Amino acid sequence: MNVYLIIILLILIADFIMGVIVETLNMRRLATALPEEFASWYDAERYKTSQDYVRENTRFALLVDTITTPLTIAFILLGGFNLVDQIARGFALSPIPTGLIFAGLLMVASQIISIPCSLYSTFVIEEKYGFNRTTAKTFLFDSAKSWLLALVIGGTLFSCILWFFDRTGSAAWVYCWLAVIIFQLLLTYCAPVVILPLFNTFYPLDDGDLKEAILGYARSQQFTIQGIFIMDASRRSSKSNAFFIGFGKYRRIVLFDTLVKKHTVDELVSILAHEMGHYKKRHILKSMLLSTLTTALMFFILSLFINSPGLFSAFKMQNTSIYASLFFFAFLYTPISLVLSIAGKALSRQYEFEADTYAAITYKKPDAMISGLKKLTVDNLSNLTPHPLKVFLSYSHPPVLTRIVALKKYAHEV
Ligand SMILES: [Zn+2]
Repeated sequence: MNVYLIIILLILIADFIMGVIVETLNMRRLATALPEEFASWYDAERYKTSQDYVRENTRFALLVDTITTPLTIAFILLGGFNLVDQIARGFALSPIPTGLIFAGLLMVASQIISIPCSLYSTFVIEEKYGFNRTTAKTFLFDSAKSWLLALVIGGTLFSCILWFFDRTGSAAWVYCWLAVIIFQLLLTYCAPVVILPLFNTFYPLDDGDLKEAILGYARSQQFTIQGIFIMDASRRSSKSNAFFIGFGKYRRIVLFDTLVKKHTVDELVSILAHEMGHYKKRHILKSMLLSTLTTALMFFILSLFINSPGLFSAFKMQNTSIYASLFFFAFLYTPISLVLSIAGKALSRQYEFEADTYAAITYKKPDAMISGLKKLTVDNLSNLTPHPLKVFLSYSHPPVLTRIVALKKYAHEV
């Protein structure tokens, strides 16, 4: 049996088993009684609802994995990739359009599974817990717009990568890396102006206490912002959030309308102070630099596997090609990307503590930060008691109770 095939099957199976173990441990933890800290925030019924919500989402994700893992394995073993490749080659086009058709057909196949999942998650689970505000029409338009974006952005980038590997020899990975960096920078600048308005409406925050408080705090921190906007997030979900878009003097604050409705001015400023903390501590810049480095590593390793005969025979392919190499490499790269992701998540959790600290020290209202966090947790039915292994593997934010403990230290000092 082909060594690559054995490795890839082991990776797929190990990934599945690890998921089952982690999620089972995480669900068992839900049996924990309501933490004291949240005693006045939940009644027994509402807390049970939050636990049911976590349970239902987890069970559904496990069910999807239980279907997709054997399907993927069967697709590999039965030569599905070769079949798709032969169809793409049937059009007798040059390598780049052939690669685009190959990738497009695989994307369509994956959508056949992911669309029903996304429908169930939005219109059954989210609906049941009162989060869903999406109409069938919005869902349809959202999907169409996402596909179009994937086609334009993904298609262009994919074509660039194929071209570089075809034409620039052993330095191709460096060119691909530079191309991805340029794409990311372009997207970061274009997203606020071109992409986000495709999905949501943004309107400037009205004059008033909230605007005064945010601008006053930003001024006190010498933090320039171009504007404060409200986003009509409530057209899709009742969950709430806030974020920043743009860089330098083009920075804009975006608040979900759902967030503004439920929080006090002090809580909202605290939440934004936390976000500003990420900029002041240069977290965004550091994360971008790190991801740039890991992208270089990925393209370098990928370059070693382009047209690898062993890898192609593992997938039962009749012909080698650069475009298929990209897909096959993705399977091999899973363990490395898992390790990198765990390290990245640990760093991100560290950054969250630092941003909380920044907000608590500079805005001097840690209690408002704490109540803001609690409201977000209760409104979004977040899991109060995640298993440490789950946190270690996949949490980009520390569990809310840990954040509250850290913030309380500052509450005493302020
Ligand atoms: Zn944060």
